[in-house]
Amino acid sequence: MQNIYPETLTDQETLLHSMLAQGPFGTIFGVSQKVFDQVWSNLTDEDGNSALYISMEIGAELDVFNPVKTFLHQNEIVDSNNPLLSSFVKKFLNGPFKLPNYGGGLGVLAGDTLKSFAACKIPVAAISLLYKKGYFAQLVDSRIGQISWSMDWSPEDTPSLYLLKNPTYPDKPLYIEIPFFDEYDKTVMAYAQIWMKLEINENMDFFVPEFLLDFSLPESPHWIRNASNHLYDSSSEKMKAIQRRMLGAGVMPLMDILGLTAKRIHLNEQHGVVAVLHFIAEYLVDKLGPTYQTTLKDSDILEAAKEVANKVIYTIHTPVKAGHDRFNKSLYAGLSHTVCRRILGLLARDKDNPSLYNFTEFAMQVNRAVNSVSRLHRDVTKKQFPQFADKITAITNGVHHLTWISDAKAEVFDSFPELSNWRQNPGMFIKAESLLKNKKFRTSLEQAWKQDTETLINYVNDMLVLHRHQIDETWIDPPNFLSHLHEEDIPLIPTVFTIGFARRFSTYKRADLIFDDIKKLTNIITSLDYPVNFLFAGKAHPADEPGKSLIKIILDLQEELYERSNGLAKLVFIPNYDMSIAKMMVSGVHAWLNCPKRPLEASGTSGMKAAMNGIPNISILDGWWMEGFHDGKTGWKFGLDTPIDAEPLSEEPAALLYEEDSASFYELFPQVLKEFYDPKYRAKYIDRCINNIFLNIPIFNTHRMIAEYCRNYELNLAPQLIKKINNFQKLYTSEI
Ligand SMILES: *Cc1c(COP(=O)(O)O)cnc(C)c1O
Repeated sequence: MQNIYPETLTDQETLLHSMLAQGPFGTIFGVSQKVFDQVWSNLTDEDGNSALYISMEIGAELDVFNPVKTFLHQNEIVDSNNPLLSSFVKKFLNGPFKLPNYGGGLGVLAGDTLKSFAACKIPVAAISLLYKKGYFAQLVDSRIGQISWSMDWSPEDTPSLYLLKNPTYPDKPLYIEIPFFDEYDKTVMAYAQIWMKLEINENMDFFVPEFLLDFSLPESPHWIRNASNHLYDSSSEKMKAIQRRMLGAGVMPLMDILGLTAKRIHLNEQHGVVAVLHFIAEYLVDKLGPTYQTTLKDSDILEAAKEVANKVIYTIHTPVKAGHDRFNKSLYAGLSHTVCRRILGLLARDKDNPSLYNFTEFAMQVNRAVNSVSRLHRDVTKKQFPQFADKITAITNGVHHLTWISDAKAEVFDSFPELSNWRQNPGMFIKAESLLKNKKFRTSLEQAWKQDTETLINYVNDMLVLHRHQIDETWIDPPNFLSHLHEEDIPLIPTVFTIGFARRFSTYKRADLIFDDIKKLTNIITSLDYPVNFLFAGKAHPADEPGKSLIKIILDLQEELYERSNGLAKLVFIPNYDMSIAKMMVSGVHAWLNCPKRPLEASGTSGMKAAMNGIPNISILDGWWMEGFHDGKTGWKFGLDTPIDAEPLSEEPAALLYEEDSASFYELFPQVLKEFYDPKYRAKYIDRCINNIFLNIPIFNTHRMIAEYCRNYELNLAPQLIKKINNFQKLYTSEI
C-alpha cells in the first residue's frame, strides 16, 4: 500500500499515515514503513545477525504497557476518515487488551525481555504458541476453592496482533507444515497459521515481532488441535510432549517461510529444545546427504551437536523438578522421527531412569552458554548439574521498568530533573540517592504512593461488594468472608498497613506460611493494636492439587483471622490474577511478601516490580532478594539462610520448614508494623522506599539483563548500539 497524502489531510491524518507499514505478509499499524523495513531487513539479513527467542509463553498484556495507545492519546487522536486507519485506531484505543497467553513469571519475564530488546534496538524475534483458550480463567468459590474456566479470547480483535498472509494469495493466511510421526514412523502433517504480535518500543522506532504458532486448524489432526487449546495442558504426558514439540519443531519451518536468519537461538527454559534436535538433524542431512540414515554414526551426531551448540543460549529457570521435562521413550516413538530419537538417545540421557529422555540434560549438553536467573540459583544449579558446573553462569532476572512503574510514580520521576531520561535509561535512578533528603521528592513520592494504594483498595472494595451481590445471582459463593459481613464492615481502609502476596500457588512458594501459627500472628496485631490488610492473589495449575489446596487454606483462614484479631486483620483473596492486577498490587501495597522455601525460588520477579515502585520487600533470603536486600536498606529478610549445601531441594511437606520460617516472621513482624505506624520511625520507612529506587531499579531491570544476554549473543551491532549496551552492562555484573 502506498502512503498518499491528499491536501485535505489534517496533521493527525498525516501522523496516522506515517504509522502504517506494509510488510511482506500484510499491513501493520504502529510503526512507519522505514522502521518496519529496517527491523525486517535486520531479521532477514543474509549474514544472520539477530537472535530468536523461544518461549512456551509470553506475557505482554496491553493494559499495562501500550505505547501506541499512549501516543494516540497524547495526540488526541480518536478516529480517522480512512476506514483502514479508523479500524486500527479504534482497536488500539478500545482493546481488548488481554492476551491470556501466559501462565506466570516465565511468560511475564519473556514479555518484559522482548520489550527491553525493542527499547534497546537489538534485532530479536520471538517464537511461541497461540493458545485458543489461553491458560485458564480462575473463579474462586469459598466452599470449593479454585475453579478453572475456559478463557476464550479473540486474537483477531486484539490490537497489535496480525495473522500473517500468504504473499502469493493475500486473502489466505500463511501456513507452515510440521511433520509429526506415528508409531510406524509414518508422517502425519500438522499445520499452523502464524500470528505476529509486535512489541513496539516507547518511541515507536523499533519493534520485536513475536510469532505465535496457531495449530487450531481443521487441516491439523484432532490431537494436534486439542493440544493448541490450553497452555501447559497436562492432561497426559503425551499432551505435554506434543505441546513441546509443536513449539520446537515449529522453529525451522517458521524461519524458512519468513526468511529469518537468526544467528543465535535463545531457549527461555528447555521447553523449546526440540528446535535444537532439528538443527542437528538438518546439519546431518547437509553433511551426509539424503541417505544419511544408513551411514549415520554416533560420532557424526556428536560433531553435529558441537556445531549446533554454537548457536544456542539456554536460560534455566528453576531447581524444582516439575520444571524439567522428562518423557518416556516409548511415547516419543509415536511422535518423532527415528533419527531424532537416536540423537535424543545419545544426548538426552536421564541419569536416574534409562527409559526417559531428559530435556534439561539435552539443553545442558548443546549450547554455548547456560544462564541461571540469580547468583544463588547459579550456585544451586551447579550443585544439581555438577557435570556442567563450568559453563553455568548467572544473569539475574529483571523487569521492564516502563511496564511496572505506576503512572502516579512515573509522574513524580518525570518531575525531577535529577532523573531525566529515566524512561530510556533505568540506570538514571542511581541519581535518586541525591533525592533522599529532598523534602519535595519525599512528599511527592508519598503522595503518589497514597494514590496507588487508593486505586488498589478501591478495586478490592468494589470487588467485595460485587461478589456480595453475586450471592443471589450466581452459583459462585463469594471467595471472601468479608463479602458476607454487614455492608459497613466490608471496606478496607487505604491508610491501613497493606501487605501484598501474589504469584503462582505452588507448594514451595508456601502462600500460607505466615498463617502457620494464627494465634501468634493475631496476638502481635492485637497487642500492638495496629490493623493490617493482607491481599493475596494467584493461580494454581489446574492439575496441581496441593497448589489448589493452598488457595482453599487461605480462604478458610479469613474468618478466624478476622475474629481473633477483633477485626483488625483483613485477609482478601483477589481472583484471576493477571498483569494488571499485579501492577495495581505491586504499586499500591505497603510491603511485598515473599516466603518460598529457600533455595527453590531461583529468582522471583514480582518483588522487583514492587522495588521499582519503591515498595520494600519482606522476604525469605532467596532468589533475587539475596542481591536486592542490601543489608536491610531496602526491606526485611526472615527465615533460615544457612548455606545451601545443607539444604535438600525437596518439596516434601516435612522439608518445607514451616515452623522455623514462620517463627522467624513473627519475630520480625512487630518491628515492621512499628516502623510503618509509629511517627517516630516513619522517615525510616520512606528512606527504605527511596533506597529501593536508587539501589534496586538500576540493577533489576530488563535493559541491564538483556545487555548481559547480548554478551552471549555476540551479534555484530552498530557502534552506537554497542556503546548503549555496554553502559547497561556497567550497571551490574550478575556473574561474580
Ligand atoms: C510478575 C508476575 C508473576 C511472577 O511473580 P513471582 O514473584 O516471580 O513468582 C506471575 N504472574 C504475574 C501475572 C506477574 O505479573
